[in-house]
Amino acid sequence: MLATIRRSSVISLFALAQAVSPLALAAVPAKYKPDAVAPSTPDTVERGFISYQTPPILHVKDGSTVLINTVSHGGLTEDPVAFFAKADIPAKDVLPDAIAIAKATKAGKWASDAGFGGHVLTGPIYIDGAEPGDLLEVRILKVTPRTYYGVNGVGPGGVAPKVLTERDQKVIKFDTKRGVMLFAKGVEPKMRPFMGIMAVAPSPEVGKVGSRAPGPFGGNMDFRRLTAGSTLYLPVFNKGALFVTGDSHAGQGDGEVSGNANESSMAPLLQFIVHKGEGKAMHFPWAEDAENYYILGMDPVLDKAADSAVTETIHWLHDKKGMSLSDAYHLCSVGVDFSVSQAVDQNLIIYGAIPKATFTKKTPYWATAAAPKAKKG
Ligand SMILES: [Zn+2]
Repeated sequence: MLATIRRSSVISLFALAQAVSPLALAAVPAKYKPDAVAPSTPDTVERGFISYQTPPILHVKDGSTVLINTVSHGGLTEDPVAFFAKADIPAKDVLPDAIAIAKATKAGKWASDAGFGGHVLTGPIYIDGAEPGDLLEVRILKVTPRTYYGVNGVGPGGVAPKVLTERDQKVIKFDTKRGVMLFAKGVEPKMRPFMGIMAVAPSPEVGKVGSRAPGPFGGNMDFRRLTAGSTLYLPVFNKGALFVTGDSHAGQGDGEVSGNANESSMAPLLQFIVHKGEGKAMHFPWAEDAENYYILGMDPVLDKAADSAVTETIHWLHDKKGMSLSDAYHLCSVGVDFSVSQAVDQNLIIYGAIPKATFTKKTPYWATAAAPKAKKG
């Protein structure tokens, strides 16, 4: 066993094994057998904030794969069974983890953190050897739904706040076999499961932060490209990196315009790899998948987020591909797509997608070399 459990002495290995739903385990290919499992119980999650002071729930070695159970805040009212019953979801299909976390919330477990937000975050996971200034590579091997439903909220908010006067919560079921959301009869958007929040703890100088606004530490990026087969790169600010994740989505469009996605509980299987000293010059996380490099820029004002993304992309091309700043700016204009990751999370994100096909010299990528082919939905 590569992992040791810290935070709560009541978690036995037996409980850990029980904490993973059969659905999650069945969907993980044998070659991706996790080295460790992180459960999502009231003792292994926090609600609404990220802090370097939260004691780790797991210690893992550099290179470990970890299956992390998460619980969505979607439908996590005082009584999730009653909430989902209104959408004809039987009590047996509501995650016991969700019920336990709802109870703990009602009992005041996170009362002193009120105002930070409602996200449920599993972790932190301590990665041995990670230190401030390092780069944490997070390979997203698999993102497995723990249920067959999620929730999207709309109302007088989000990007178009004047359209509606009332709030509406829509439970959206999905068909994991066909990879589609059953939105309405004849309307079946593709599932694109990913974690809305993946983060390391911000530095002690920054301190405890609310989970809503993303930042250099990652966080609530709501970046829909981070599906299975992608890789996220985060700068490390604390010993052990202190990784947390949550806010999983069965599907979300660029922009996340209503303020949330199809909020649904997932169990991501992630691999953590530490690169010594490579995080020092990073301003923001960046990512890649088989098709593209993704360079993120952030700012509370959308225009400035665009400036940030273009500036970061120019410097990335300069640093990683050896281009002059002027050539990099040319390339951004003629061959890079800039899109909105999310326009609703206080610190807004624009990202540049640089097609890997741009470069005639091919660089090997783990997901194309080793991973099983992604199922087409
Ligand atoms: Zn979300």
